[in-house]
Amino acid sequence: MLAISKTVPVPLIREIAAYGQRRFGESYVQEALPKITDLHDLRLEWHFVGPLQSNKTRAVANHFDWVHSVSTAKVARRLHEQRPPDLPPLNICLQVNISHEASKSGADAADLLALAQLVTGLEHLKLRGLMAIPEPDADPIGQRERFRAVHDLYQMLQAAGFALDTLSMGMSGDLEAAIAEGSTLVRIGTALFGERS
Ligand SMILES: *Cc1c(COP(=O)(O)O)cnc(C)c1O
Repeated sequence: MLAISKTVPVPLIREIAAYGQRRFGESYVQEALPKITDLHDLRLEWHFVGPLQSNKTRAVANHFDWVHSVSTAKVARRLHEQRPPDLPPLNICLQVNISHEASKSGADAADLLALAQLVTGLEHLKLRGLMAIPEPDADPIGQRERFRAVHDLYQMLQAAGFALDTLSMGMSGDLEAAIAEGSTLVRIGTALFGERS
């Protein structure tokens, strides 16, 4: 489980960390940086899961361990160039857009192979897997169909020779469907910390 701590204050993150939770995810760079600094003593693992504009890549490359929202070659190249060489490679999930309707973030399935090849060739990045945020769907059958489509793409990349170990899908409202379809990392905010105000 990745604990999504956006809008959650530092003392509450400390409380959850005291129970043994080590991996936390944030969506907004400006909010995350002071929290990461405050919590430095705990040596937590920080995942960036929000939309990533080019002008924010440097801060993310400097302060995070993982990025789940890489969907363009430009952002991947910038993260590689800006990752400090004394840090381990930045772990990368490619965000894929499988429900084309409203959500515009994420790469098209047709572009995934080329993106995976690019990231694999960048030494300051380490390709770990895929991330998806399907359209909300109250129907568990519909949820599972979307997650299954992401899992199919994940297996397609593995069959093409990419050594992937992370399928980041499922949030508070659809985590059961995501796990049933092979998620390896659910991103949980509300179900852990309560409603965001
Ligand atoms: C906020 C957020 C989550 C957590 O959502 P909940 O419904 O509160 O569990 C997961 N993933 C991403 C990318 C988010 O922005």
